[in-house]
Amino acid sequence: MYNVINYMEIWVNEYMDVLLERSGGCKCDNCKRDIFTLSLNNLKPCYVATPIGNIMARLESTKQQFETDIIVEITKAINKINSNPNH
Ligand SMILES: [Zn+2]
Repeated sequence: MYNVINYMEIWVNEYMDVLLERSGGCKCDNCKRDIFTLSLNNLKPCYVATPIGNIMARLESTKQQFETDIIVEITKAINKINSNPNH
């Protein structure tokens, strides 16, 4: 396998914790997994080869570009999963 990762996964994970905290939604593993997959399916992937040095810096500005989309999609996913939880 090539050493590539989808940065969107890392960002969604990051924002999901913050947004779940804020919304008071269920934080069990099932709900988090569902919110995570649902959000990722609605967001554009951001694949990069193993990040080193300046790639990380560039990714920070990419993250800022996507921030609004990430927050919108996670919020939608939290609402959807919480109104019909799978736990
Ligand atoms: Zn739950």
